[in-house]
Amino acid sequence: MSVVTRFAPSPNGPLHLGHAFSAIVAADEAAAGGGEFLLRIEDIDGPRTRPELADEFRRDLEWLGLQWREVPAQSTRLESYRQAASRLEREGLLYRCVATRRDMAAIAPRRGADGIEYPGSAKGLYPPASLDEPFALRLDLDAALERVGDLVWEDQAAGCVHVDPREFGDVVLVRKDLPASYHLAVTLDDAADGVTLVTRGRDLFASTDVHRVLQELLGLPVPRYLHHDLIMDSRGRKLSKSRGSAALSDRRRAGEDGLQLARELRARRKGAGT
Ligand code: GLU
Repeated sequence: MSVVTRFAPSPNGPLHLGHAFSAIVAADEAAAGGGEFLLRIEDIDGPRTRPELADEFRRDLEWLGLQWREVPAQSTRLESYRQAASRLEREGLLYRCVATRRDMAAIAPRRGADGIEYPGSAKGLYPPASLDEPFALRLDLDAALERVGDLVWEDQAAGCVHVDPREFGDVVLVRKDLPASYHLAVTLDDAADGVTLVTRGRDLFASTDVHRVLQELLGLPVPRYLHHDLIMDSRGRKLSKSRGSAALSDRRRAGEDGLQLARELRARRKGAGT
């Protein structure tokens, strides 16, 4: 089977070097597997979403010399998120909850068999008073884990990973203000787009445990994964616009050679062996 990968940027800030690296990894893995590289705009971040950035992203990718097929943006897929959430809710795996972050922090953690403390459950503690009150839908993690049993997923670099999403607690799948959380949307979209190899930064490694549980609950195909190294700034911190990492669009406009930058990132990847 040929390899289908994707780059899935959120238009809430400009792309920087870390995104360029991620896109190149995805494009190169698809090319090496004789497959297809997809672009998906993840534009359901409410007021943080800046639709005009999507065009900048396309120009940035072109500047890096990449070619892709664009699949529908997340904002066009809300019905699929709604359907999946209502299915899980009907099956008793989600609960409605108005808890704030502060409420959640006040809940006593539960101790796992391994002696480690995990976030406590808000189940039954903060139900909405009425349907008019905004509520989130949280996964009842104990019920979900009981349903799915032991699971594994395969990372191309790290090998076989045993699923343990307890550090996320009863993770939010539908936010109070948005039609889906990152976890629900990305899991459904990767399946709908036929992605066979999910490539993304190592900062999202643990999230994959949540996605693997959702795949099992929703009967979705299970892709392989490749969590690549992150590109750090000179002080060893993750790049981010808020810390002043240069935007690709600024570098592009300043006349920098995008193809040369892509070559350097590929050389870096080869050197690091990921
Ligand atoms: N939209 C997410 C981001 O920009 C994508 C994460 C993923 O690749 O799963 O971080």
